[in-house]
Amino acid sequence: MADKKPHMNIVFIGHVDHGKSTTVGRLLYEHGEIDQRVIDQYRQEAEKLGKSTFEFAFVMDRLKEERERGLTIDVAHRKFETDKYYFTIIDAPGHRDFVKNMITGTSQADAAVLIVAAPEGVMEQTKEHIFLARTLGVPQMIVAINKMDATKPPYDEKRFNEVKEQVEKLLAAVGWKDVPFVPISAYKGDNIMKKSENMPWWKGPTLLELLNNLKVPPKPTDKPLRIPVQDVYSITGIGTVPVGRVETGVLKVGDKVTFMPANKSGEVKSIEMHHEPMKEAYPGDNIGFNVRGIGKKDIKRGDVCGHTSNPPTVAKSFIAQIVVLNHPSVIAPGYTPVFHAHTAQIACRFEELIKTLDPRTGQTKQDHPDFLKTGDIAMVKIVPTRPMVIEPVKEIPQLGRFAVRDMGQTVAAGQCIEVEK
Ligand code: GDP
Repeated sequence: MADKKPHMNIVFIGHVDHGKSTTVGRLLYEHGEIDQRVIDQYRQEAEKLGKSTFEFAFVMDRLKEERERGLTIDVAHRKFETDKYYFTIIDAPGHRDFVKNMITGTSQADAAVLIVAAPEGVMEQTKEHIFLARTLGVPQMIVAINKMDATKPPYDEKRFNEVKEQVEKLLAAVGWKDVPFVPISAYKGDNIMKKSENMPWWKGPTLLELLNNLKVPPKPTDKPLRIPVQDVYSITGIGTVPVGRVETGVLKVGDKVTFMPANKSGEVKSIEMHHEPMKEAYPGDNIGFNVRGIGKKDIKRGDVCGHTSNPPTVAKSFIAQIVVLNHPSVIAPGYTPVFHAHTAQIACRFEELIKTLDPRTGQTKQDHPDFLKTGDIAMVKIVPTRPMVIEPVKEIPQLGRFAVRDMGQTVAAGQCIEVEK
């Protein structure tokens, strides 16, 4: 493949009904990413209903009905490409799992598109999502002020500026800077792919231009080396071969490495990816590497490999910020569910509930609450029941995020703020 466009993961956030699905639908539709059979089916239905022309709106309404009935035909096609990037929409709008996915890094967002409806302006979830996107480390944001066709009068510049100002205040309050805005109508298609004739006052870019202007996330090669171990093999004639994805840093043949918490060290004799030998491995590479001086039994899944000069941190306890996503009752001190961080799964105890935070501002809501319930955002002290590698997200984001699972579901997600060694 000659064409090697970068991939960009984007997440759509914003208050319910402000137009996330419609905007996503519009982008997919305009890029020809909605299955032709689905469109044909809707076209026939539209004709039966006496709608002479086939309208985008009709497709969207049907997609929405399908989703409400629990069908997910729109979810399979959440990718589109522009001349600059391949985009993947990592949250199917309406799905709450994006918080969990973002935190655990299974689908780290490179950018968020915040949708705010112009007639309504800033609402509760607008504030919450701005704060969450910030805490979860989403590096870039675009704000689309939607439903410009429904302002009074339609396409009103004054209303756009009012809502823009409201949003800018919130962004500034939680530390977002240089966030670009665009007035759109997802429903009618204004300023999505091409400049709207309905808003001659708008001299700025379209949504598509803003998406193309996003920056490619830099590869974390300058961070310390971290490779969470997925598996360990013993290969005849070669020796011990741990397998894992390089999260940060660079691994070279000849490097001295240490696995923690196992605390076993050795020297890298060879590296390979897809059965091809290589001299160096970079973030994102899924590799197997032979380490001399370590036996298969010395290390296991959940250990993390780093350079001996700067080994991974083993936490005796750590301070974390968590979001309670879905807990049937309450979380009280002493609760010991399983934490999933990188490749490790370790039971950890909630030692102390330090405080809850206001989801809109990040300010302290209550010190030392007795318990936490679904929807709460809190600072907590966690004690792993056995040695565990976890590191502050500020230093190594890839090693600082975790999901909390209990009773077969993800009850919370969070990130490590500070480690006590
Ligand atoms: P979500 O909950 O944020 O995903 O919102 P939806 O995309 O489901 O939109 C909620 C409602 O607003 C639906 O009835 C849409 O048809 C309508 N809507 C979305 N975008 C626009 C727009 O640009 N203009 C107008 N007038 N209505 C819109």
